[in-house]
Amino acid sequence: MKCAQGGSFSNGELQRFGNIELSPSSGVLNYGQGLFEGMKAYRKQDGNILLFRPEENALRMRLGAERMCMPSPTVEQFVEAVKATVLANKRWVPPPGKGSLYIRPLLMGSGAVLGLAPAPEYTFLIYVSPVGNYFKEGIAPINLIVEHELHRATPGGTGGVKTIGNYAAVLKAQSAAKAKGYSDVLYLDCVHKKYLEEVSSCNIFVVKGDVISTPSIKGTILPGITRKSIIDVARSQGFQVEERFVDVDELLEADEVFCTGTAVVVSPVGSITYLDKRVSYGEGGFGAVSQKLYSMLTRLQMGLIEDKMDWTVELKPA
Ligand code: PMP
Repeated sequence: MKCAQGGSFSNGELQRFGNIELSPSSGVLNYGQGLFEGMKAYRKQDGNILLFRPEENALRMRLGAERMCMPSPTVEQFVEAVKATVLANKRWVPPPGKGSLYIRPLLMGSGAVLGLAPAPEYTFLIYVSPVGNYFKEGIAPINLIVEHELHRATPGGTGGVKTIGNYAAVLKAQSAAKAKGYSDVLYLDCVHKKYLEEVSSCNIFVVKGDVISTPSIKGTILPGITRKSIIDVARSQGFQVEERFVDVDELLEADEVFCTGTAVVVSPVGSITYLDKRVSYGEGGFGAVSQKLYSMLTRLQMGLIEDKMDWTVELKPA
């Protein structure tokens, strides 16, 4: 779908996957005017396909577009385009238990612009790919390192929206961490340098007794849809969930730590390296709270339990 600045998107069409043409002076290539979303479709036992809260991704893209001076598809256009793309690729949705179809909606300033300004034209597209587990550990515990020098986002910046530049900004710290054998990086806030923010592509939760804490949404972390869903699921299971400033020192006292995101689902953290300390959780196992929340969320997303929250959207391939 295409749209001029100040205009609105008209419905798009399905095209075979392939390279796209882009002006060398397009807004996205020169000034980073780009946003994306990440979603998953799961195959049910009866062959139908489930999407998880697609309207939440549409709304998040609309908020991001506002921050990045871009027009965006309406929620209906976004959701209908996702459904049409998934159905057109139904043969790529893996069988139950064998992974999922990852869905990548992308919105970019595709029009040419030389001086710094919003692009004159925008393109919205969606591509898909079957995927397995995000971390090479699978659903086994991951090992994080706290980053002390590089920051992912600043107050007033774009950390709260899913713009492409945020991901370029984490590549250096993430590559260095991976080269040392860590699964990913845990970022701290850049003002006090002691409050937890998030991991390169997922949100973080810290468990102590029956209380689950997670950094509050204050413009520097991405408001994850999995994060929001896990908060509701945990509360429905009687846990107290606190959204607040979480001090990095709380990692030393925590019973369990886990990450949430579309790609990582709920991933338990086995250890966190913080300055010269290495804190381990759950003796390398899947902590009871992470295990329970993982199991509840994935069974809901895969259609194995009744969806009392009305979060899933069922597609019936013809
Ligand atoms: N934080 C960042 C930086 C991310 O890229 C993601 C993945 N979209 C998340 C958190 C988790 O968000 P969600 O649960 O919506 O996938």
